[in-house]
Amino acid sequence: MSTLPEQIAEAGVVGAGGAGFPTHVKAGSTVDYFLVNGAECEPLLHKDFELMVHHAAEIVKGAALMKNQVGAKTGLICIKSKNQAAIEAVSSHLPGTGLAIFELGDFYPSGDEYEIVYAATGRLMPPGGIPLNVGCVVNNVETVLNIWKASQGDSVSEKFICVTGAVKNPGSFWVPVGTPFADLIRFCGGVTSEKYGIYVGGVMMGKLTFDTTEVVTKTTGGLIILPEDHKLVQRKNQPEKNWHQIGKSACDQCSYCTEFCPRYLLGYDVQPHKVMRSLGFTGQNNAMWNVYADLCCSCGLCTLYSCPEDLFPKEACDKGKRENKAAGIKMDQKKPVEVHPFKDGRRVPLKKLISRLGLTEFDVHTPYRDEKPAPKWVKILLRQHVGDAVSPAVTEGQPIKKNDILGRPEPGKLGSVIHSSVTGTIREVNPAYVIIENSETR
Ligand code: SF4
Ligand code: SF4
Repeated sequence: MSTLPEQIAEAGVVGAGGAGFPTHVKAGSTVDYFLVNGAECEPLLHKDFELMVHHAAEIVKGAALMKNQVGAKTGLICIKSKNQAAIEAVSSHLPGTGLAIFELGDFYPSGDEYEIVYAATGRLMPPGGIPLNVGCVVNNVETVLNIWKASQGDSVSEKFICVTGAVKNPGSFWVPVGTPFADLIRFCGGVTSEKYGIYVGGVMMGKLTFDTTEVVTKTTGGLIILPEDHKLVQRKNQPEKNWHQIGKSACDQCSYCTEFCPRYLLGYDVQPHKVMRSLGFTGQNNAMWNVYADLCCSCGLCTLYSCPEDLFPKEACDKGKRENKAAGIKMDQKKPVEVHPFKDGRRVPLKKLISRLGLTEFDVHTPYRDEKPAPKWVKILLRQHVGDAVSPAVTEGQPIKKNDILGRPEPGKLGSVIHSSVTGTIREVNPAYVIIENSETR
């Protein structure tokens, strides 16, 4: 009989909230607190809410298994107070599990691990640390659902996602991993804007694409379709050098980006206004300012909410972090991590953020749908997780069944097993992906 971490590894469970860290590694920890992250703070995305309402029993069972596995004395399922339907659904399954609900406010970014660990436990991670450093393991709600499924022998071959924005029928539903975005848009009745961009994983922390042949992975949280002339698409859709060029000439060092930075307010030495200074320098002078980007979590608030000049401090921080990594530079924060006295007063309510982003008209219910898209083919990436890509263990022309293994990590390497999400025939294999023709849609 295999252990829970072995079942989780064999099922290919990774952090479904976007991070993609292999869950079996976390399952090998011993901690004080086990936290389930149900914050879902990206504007417009509601798939975790729908999951908690419709799969509450499995989520609680998965959370109870993981809490016991990591030896946690305290297990908390963190849900925003505004999501009463989710709280009620989950609460009804809690008796006898040793788990409790922890209610969160409706702020951005309340789901950031640093934020949620502090809110639920009062503990502050060391600069650059992980929850384990302060005796915590955090899993997203879909991850704990997948932990429960893994304990029942089911692998991660489907992803629960939310598709919203400029589509006729926004919704939340299960979809085979590897499904092309075009199938999802069709499944939602098509677009309401002739020309559009697709935000993958959210407008704050996700990426923008115009390519509908891109596919769902184990970490895709949702698609937000926006008209091509929406200001968010316009701002994001320009060459990176433009962001930095305008920042170099127009930043007046007002420091609002730093004053509203959630990491700065928690006590970490992130100072995007100083990183903006790096845009005018090269070499050592540049590195002197880049170091203030090192502890940034790329939440996007500085670029999309705080900066009165519509500049791109988050993107300057992303560039700074890349350059720090290449140069082997790390922020060595000497001052103690102490929460800023104005932190509570400077939190950003989600409704206000949605209004500032010009998204109010798209802030709609994304109801749970039982039916699923049936793509003609799926393209399954061999690296959908933190760690190395897996080597394909299948060949072209080979028949394959849903849940069969396409590849597994090398022994001793960080990675996750990848499974087929449909039954059909392998059409293409290369080191990056496998394409499978779905025989059930012919
Ligand atoms: S908020 Fe904008 S203008 Fe002010 S310091 Fe930051 S980047 Fe510069
Ligand atoms: S993206 Fe901006 S606001 Fe967010 S953590 Fe980084 S510097 Fe702070």
